Amino acid sequence: MGHSIAREKILTLIKGSKQPISYAEIKESMGSSCSRVTIYRTLIHLEKNQKIRKFSDAQAEFRYLVHPIAEDQKLTLSHFQCIRCHRLQKLDAYPLPENLLKNYLIHSVHTMASGICKECNEKGL
Ligand SMILES: [Zn+2]
Repeated sequence: MGHSIAREKILTLIKGSKQPISYAEIKESMGSSCSRVTIYRTLIHLEKNQKIRKFSDAQAEFRYLVHPIAEDQKLTLSHFQCIRCHRLQKLDAYPLPENLLKNYLIHSVHTMASGICKECNEKGL
């Protein structure tokens, strides 16, 4: 698979994913059509060009999502991950403290919260 085709496919995959997608999920979707190296290189390229962003989840696994353009999204990107079912959920954006905005030129903030989700809690897992 050519580089530009792989880039297009992977970006489409990330865009279409409801939740930030992991490398393992990307690899699974791409199947044997794309090598491990091509996927890694493509992800690095997309990140460098600010098409996507990555963050480390509660399992210390990288997750990829489309680079948020809106200013408020850029400032507060927050996710919650359940330690039982490992599902990821997007949390609501929140405003940053005034003093933080005054003293630093902040490009992005990502909050990774972990705990037990509503479903697992209700099931008593
Ligand atoms: Zn859960």
